[in-house]
Amino acid sequence: MQYTSTRNKALSFSAGQCLLQGISAEGGLFVPQSLPPFAPGLFKALQKETYAKRAQAVLAPFFTDFSAEELAYCTRMAYGPQFDSPAVAPVKQVNETAFSLELWHGPTLAFKDMALQVLPHLMRVAKENNRQSEDILILVATSGDTGKAALEGFAGVPGMRIAVYYPSEGVSPLQKLQMITQDGDNVAVFGVKGNFDDAQSSVKQMFADPAINEILKARSLRFSSANSINWGRLAPQIVYYVSAYADMLAAGHIAEGEKINIVVPTGNFGNILAAYYAKQMGLPVHMLICASNHNNVLTDFMQTGAYNRNRPFHKTISPSMDILISSNLERLLFELTGRSDAAVCAMMKDLQEKGLYQLPETALSALKEGFWGGYATEEQTLAAISQTYKESGYITDPHTAVAFSVYNDYKAATQDSHKTLIASTASPYKFAGDVIRALTGKMEEERAALSALEKHLPMPLSVTRLFSRPILHREVLEKTQMANALLEFAGK
Ligand SMILES: *Cc1c(COP(=O)(O)O)cnc(C)c1O
Repeated sequence: MQYTSTRNKALSFSAGQCLLQGISAEGGLFVPQSLPPFAPGLFKALQKETYAKRAQAVLAPFFTDFSAEELAYCTRMAYGPQFDSPAVAPVKQVNETAFSLELWHGPTLAFKDMALQVLPHLMRVAKENNRQSEDILILVATSGDTGKAALEGFAGVPGMRIAVYYPSEGVSPLQKLQMITQDGDNVAVFGVKGNFDDAQSSVKQMFADPAINEILKARSLRFSSANSINWGRLAPQIVYYVSAYADMLAAGHIAEGEKINIVVPTGNFGNILAAYYAKQMGLPVHMLICASNHNNVLTDFMQTGAYNRNRPFHKTISPSMDILISSNLERLLFELTGRSDAAVCAMMKDLQEKGLYQLPETALSALKEGFWGGYATEEQTLAAISQTYKESGYITDPHTAVAFSVYNDYKAATQDSHKTLIASTASPYKFAGDVIRALTGKMEEERAALSALEKHLPMPLSVTRLFSRPILHREVLEKTQMANALLEFAGK
């Protein structure tokens, strides 16, 4: 399978090149030349397989420059005992039509693990197959979830190093503790004075700085990035939709070929795009339901085809969805316009210059055929947590609650009764304070909220252990010290 760019269809890349390079030189995103259809009978055949085997089967047509042994190795390393459920991504029935796809059984309790546990192994194979002699240095600026998931994924992987910068006062106490207790010889974690945007813009500058790149080269290192537009993060997300369908078939919840809806709480549009790709490849899907929080730029887009980022930014209790530019949407625009790189270039230019663009009419009807968009306010998110618990005893984190709220709106608006898979993207333990506030109406300190949750749901081992782990990374930097700290780490 070869890949091309959303902004220049004349280009061609191997999967390995896409992983190592991250983004095409002219700014476009890597997309497969075509979407390989699922083999007939695949969903049934996968019922008895482990998640690692399922991943190997779904990824193989996308990674034709990898051998079967290499893919088996990567998926086995990624989807093993670091997940606290043998199913890796189990499906739980919540009510007659709603099924929760739990994507948070990995080491950091959020769905980013599903891709970031396998990406480092895929990158390592790609580096060897492409005869890249330099080791890889991953740079991450994080507002919370991604940094820890990347650290867990890359720690201890040979040929890889990772440096993570987080805003020292801009992440939750639990997220901070997760990062500053990270072990591994090949990791560095730095707090940065300022907000996320400060850390992010400095990381981008370092990435592009010719002098820094020269120094790294002399030390046999080369930058790579692990952000959500990397193809190596997207492809592994297709796997769990296939896996969930196989599980629903096996449990008799659906018949072979029966269509389901998929609801996804959306930020950067990576998770829901993977569901769209699965549908294009033959997964029986009726509607894809895009759930946003108060930052509802995508809801408006789904209704009108107008994407307009010129609006206030809201900080919400579902912070991983606080995004006004959904980078992976570019890949959907490419498909909706009949794979027109010219149309994508025009829209991305408008977004860059005016902060808005309009989808052409035919593409808008294609969008409306397959997608339904909705959003939840903060009050609706909290209400969805308590309502879902009261009605079915199931506890959701605030991100997942946004999806449940929007699903209820969808059902009321359409009367659609298809069985529906709801992507559950974080463990309630990751946002214990807000979950307990929704359930009891009381504000609790972090530790008290965690204990309160334990009455409903066993505490994951990674949380229990967190408070006894030694603090290994105390450094908090001024913005101007970030590059020096990086070079010191690279010199070790
Ligand atoms: C990243 C994240 C999301 C958003 O996923 P996208 O792929 O960016 O749309 C939703 N929920 C949680 C908990 C996340 O960490």
